[in-house]
Amino acid sequence: MPDCRVGQGYDIHRLTPGRRLRLGGVTIDSPLGCEAHSDGDVLLHALIDALLGACALGDIGDHFPPSDARYRDIDSTTLLAETLTLLRRQGLHRLVNVDATVFLEQPKLYPYKETIRGTLATLLELSPDRVSFKAKTAEGFPPVGTREAVAAAVTILLEVNPERATSWTKKAES
Ligand code: MG
Repeated sequence: MPDCRVGQGYDIHRLTPGRRLRLGGVTIDSPLGCEAHSDGDVLLHALIDALLGACALGDIGDHFPPSDARYRDIDSTTLLAETLTLLRRQGLHRLVNVDATVFLEQPKLYPYKETIRGTLATLLELSPDRVSFKAKTAEGFPPVGTREAVAAAVTILLEVNPERATSWTKKAES
């Protein structure tokens, strides 16, 4: 049986005028964007946390601290690429699937759903049938429902390379 590990990530950012709204590497036509040190792509930030979490490699703040000027206004697709490089370098995993949800009141993300899903699949080098993207509102409840914030939750599954795993099962076997 394969050694599979689950990872989950969550992120929320304040919405503010005069900033671009980026979700999953896609620019959304919106009068409000994310207040953030980077481009504020909550979906990619939650995805990065899920990937790091599945590998027990800390969180996005450990690897890309907001105090570091290099990450000012950085495109989060670059942060995702660096995260994937880190995971590949360790030879630890093969990504199995991704299930992502964005919580945003306005604009409705329905017209962007397939673009975001396809972009995530491309960024992750995954077949689109292994990538799920869902968009929800918050039924008017704050802060998402009152258009003060956008949030994202991502769950991923990856399979660990047994040759490289240093898991408790290895210790138990020896
Ligand atoms: Mg963030």
